[in-house]
Amino acid sequence: MKYKRILLKLSGEALMGQKQYGIDNDRLMQYAQEIKKTVDAGCQVAIVIGGGNIFRGLSGAAEGMDRVQGDYMGMLATVINGMALQGALENLGVYTRLQSAIEMDKVAEPFIKRRATRHLEKGRVVIFGAGTGNPYFTTDTAATLRAIEIGADVILKGTRVDGIYDSDPEKNANAVKYDTLSFDEVFKNNLKVMDMTAFTLSHENKLPIIVFDMNKENNLLKIVQGDQVGTLVN
Ligand code: UDP
Repeated sequence: MKYKRILLKLSGEALMGQKQYGIDNDRLMQYAQEIKKTVDAGCQVAIVIGGGNIFRGLSGAAEGMDRVQGDYMGMLATVINGMALQGALENLGVYTRLQSAIEMDKVAEPFIKRRATRHLEKGRVVIFGAGTGNPYFTTDTAATLRAIEIGADVILKGTRVDGIYDSDPEKNANAVKYDTLSFDEVFKNNLKVMDMTAFTLSHENKLPIIVFDMNKENNLLKIVQGDQVGTLVN
């Protein structure tokens, strides 16, 4: 096994599947199955999930809402997604814990790093909800922060494209995919991997990032086993 402890970042939008809003149950179950395979292989899995399928603070602000209020709503949306993923994983018999950066003791444990790592050592999947707990941040930053805190070997950013390209592959048919990139190359070529706060944090802490297609069967398992999938930034 190449990576023993991973932080998987899933966007909220990915959970929509074919829907325009909210959570698509088939997609949720598909992700739960992919995660289970990785856990069964002996990998320690922590997850940060976004909230964009339900609410984004920036979109609220664009329509006149207070940005901070909107950001807290976005953070709560990530807890809803975290609970959905937790339920799906537990349906498959995977042990999980949900830890929230905003305390809500009826549905989640508070985020406590030592407790999180203990859960991981015991083979439980730990889902981190409510982002960083602070407005003006994203769940990419939360994912990077938690990955560093728990000593993850790598952050795996599951997307619907199969890596980082020199231009947008959904718009340009001739876009070329990179297998590996250095942090400096990403900066120099102005490539989009994560938002700048998250990316800088990864860079400063030498945390490798792999961007990959989460919708392709066995991709997650292949990565932790060391196969070349997606684009590695290190
Ligand atoms: N958010 C926040 N602080 C955080 C993480 C998230 O305020 O640390 C809010 C922010 O409004 C964001 C929303 O939660 O738009 C949902 O997160 P994000 O947009 O990162 O979700 P994704 O794009 O991954 O679905």
